[in-house]
Amino acid sequence: MTYNKRRVTKPVYVGGVKVGGGADVTVQSMTKTDTRDVKATVRQIHELEEAGCEIIRSAVPDMEAAQAMAEIKKQIHIPLIADIHFHYQLALECAAGGVDCLRLNPGNLRNEDQVREVVQSAKQRNIPIRIGVNFGSLPPVGGIGRTRGFSRHMDLVNRLPKAGEAQSGDYSVVDHMVATALWEISLLEQQDFDQIKISMKAFDVPTTVEAYRRLGEMVPYPLHLGITEAGTVQSGSIRTAVGLGVLLYEGIGDTIRVSLSGDSVEEVTAGYEILKSLNLRDKGTTLVACPSCGRADVDVVKLANDVDALLKRSDKKIKVAVMGCEVNGPGEAKDADVGIAAGAGRAIIFRKGEKVRVVPEAEMLTALMEEIENTPV
Ligand code: SF4
Repeated sequence: MTYNKRRVTKPVYVGGVKVGGGADVTVQSMTKTDTRDVKATVRQIHELEEAGCEIIRSAVPDMEAAQAMAEIKKQIHIPLIADIHFHYQLALECAAGGVDCLRLNPGNLRNEDQVREVVQSAKQRNIPIRIGVNFGSLPPVGGIGRTRGFSRHMDLVNRLPKAGEAQSGDYSVVDHMVATALWEISLLEQQDFDQIKISMKAFDVPTTVEAYRRLGEMVPYPLHLGITEAGTVQSGSIRTAVGLGVLLYEGIGDTIRVSLSGDSVEEVTAGYEILKSLNLRDKGTTLVACPSCGRADVDVVKLANDVDALLKRSDKKIKVAVMGCEVNGPGEAKDADVGIAAGAGRAIIFRKGEKVRVVPEAEMLTALMEEIENTPV
């Protein structure tokens, strides 16, 4: 099953990568090195390119990092986004240095004249801006302007409590997130700038889902999906998959980042697994593995992990099954292109549920890899 009801969005181009406008949902990540260390950052980006990362973002905490971005850009092959908080001059420096996109946090970069200056710079260079709203760094009450832009939804912005006013009970965090995004969108629209994409990240999944849904109905721009500070590789991947899964299933989302306290390559792997689970992307080999049970004749968990490790090197777009018994295995994995069902002392190799070969247990891993190699794509 595939999706034909993706939310319709205006495309933006991050370097050569189209985001929105019906393009494939892209997978991005963020470097975890000190951006000022060009060599280490470039090395990490090359690893991420190898893993399939399509857009990379780096933090720009100071002017030295901003200047390093120009050098990093020259040495990599995927579009580079500068992640800017607080200081608009860093955005100007990165734009001049040739980055492919700017991420601005409206929670801490709120001076409208400064934002306008950044927009002018982005416009001159034809690079998009991501408005990165984050639950953890929303502007304080009364902290954003009441610019009346071309947005039809400024009533929500104008409902934001003013400084010193008590926050009304029915003004939710999601309202605050949406209003914050609309404020900056209107600033950009006022300058005839429409190369916009937006993120609405929170740690809490229901808050994140609601914020994206609400904003998605209001504006035509592509959305960058993510769950912020999601957690370690296992818990963060699950939390992100739940949140992004809901949104992507509804057709919302144009590019994703899985934020993990772990290796950035894991973020990319998890991103593709989420998209592959929804048939939104088709990358590399998909592993179907049974969980094992009392019927298993071999250590199927070890076998599945061994196969998974070998498949990481394969870019073949096929589905491979590893099943723990001959009785149920082939039938339970009959949509796999090729699979193995391990039995006592032997294993059956099957294709689309049909037995094609029987091999001794000691040779089953080699035999499966041979069959994968011989599977046409
Ligand atoms: Fe159990 Fe066999 Fe199913 Fe694996 S394939 S879960 S071993 S019944």
